[in-house]
Amino acid sequence: MAARITFKKIDIENTFLDPRQDFQPIVVKSQVRFDPLTGRTGHFSHFGAIKPQQLDLEKYLDPPVKGFCPFCGARREVQTPKFPREIIAEGRLTRGEALLVPNLYPYDIYSSVCIMTRAHVVPLDQFSYKILLDSFTIGLEFLKRVKVIGTPLPYHIMGWNYMPPSGGGLVHPHQQYFATKHPGNQFADELRASELFYRSYQIDYWQEMVNIEQKNDERYIGQLGGSHWLTSYVALGMLGEIICVFPGVYCIDDFRSANISELVSGIQKIFSYYSKKGIYSFNASLFFGPEGQRFFPAHFRIVPRTFLNTRDYAPDLNFFQAVLQEPVSVVLPEDLCLEVKSFFRAYGRP
Ligand SMILES: [Zn+2]
Repeated sequence: MAARITFKKIDIENTFLDPRQDFQPIVVKSQVRFDPLTGRTGHFSHFGAIKPQQLDLEKYLDPPVKGFCPFCGARREVQTPKFPREIIAEGRLTRGEALLVPNLYPYDIYSSVCIMTRAHVVPLDQFSYKILLDSFTIGLEFLKRVKVIGTPLPYHIMGWNYMPPSGGGLVHPHQQYFATKHPGNQFADELRASELFYRSYQIDYWQEMVNIEQKNDERYIGQLGGSHWLTSYVALGMLGEIICVFPGVYCIDDFRSANISELVSGIQKIFSYYSKKGIYSFNASLFFGPEGQRFFPAHFRIVPRTFLNTRDYAPDLNFFQAVLQEPVSVVLPEDLCLEVKSFFRAYGRP
């Protein structure tokens, strides 16, 4: 029987006369990979050429740089909105330092922001287990509550921009939680392809992918309880991508407190790795498919973000991503996996 999941790539060699080597011929390699689920391509090139840039976090506390922050001090109670009674009867959700409020700039009918901390600037290695657990707990509580009221919206998403290179408008740590019928092209493509795979083989692609990657042992980082952590075969980020799959968790109601704990433990390990590598910024998302299906389990993705330099703050996205809609990565997933794996081993199970 033909393999149900294939890892296809094309190796490319480019030759030019190198001015750094007295114009001797040099061969430079790159790759195009095909996502095993969707068939979408990604380029791998410029290996090692882009380094994460250090951010001066202290600078973000200087009043002229900091400017107005609606999430700081008493302002978060006074100047952030409240939900109408029929959505969240209490007006807002809170747990520990975390406070969940409506998004002033909503993405859909039910759209919230979770202010994660009291502190305005929180370095990655200072996101405690409790801070992360409290934030995810009330964010997911919000999604579970809006799922059963008013307009049915089948998809549930957590989005997180951390620090300015990620496109985040505020450095004060915050996440966004919203329900929608329109979850974006990546989500929609994966959902469609997962359903086709399920119809063809009567198995869940994501469970099968985890099994294969565990056996291959090239991109499989580790397991924490029911969660499996891997590097993506086609990375969506310039500095690679880590994905976490929760097989069997098919909708937000299946996501239990143990899953939150596993997610938070894994994120803390990734933050330890990022801190060691000098990565200061990222985009992350947690995705939930619609109720009733058995082919699209919850998964989490995280990609580092950086400026190319802090001289003129060139972003790490260019014409490839902006107009060709093609991800480019300068890190091979297999190399990234080797590096991250030791952080999962060192800290054991949650
Ligand atoms: Zn603040």
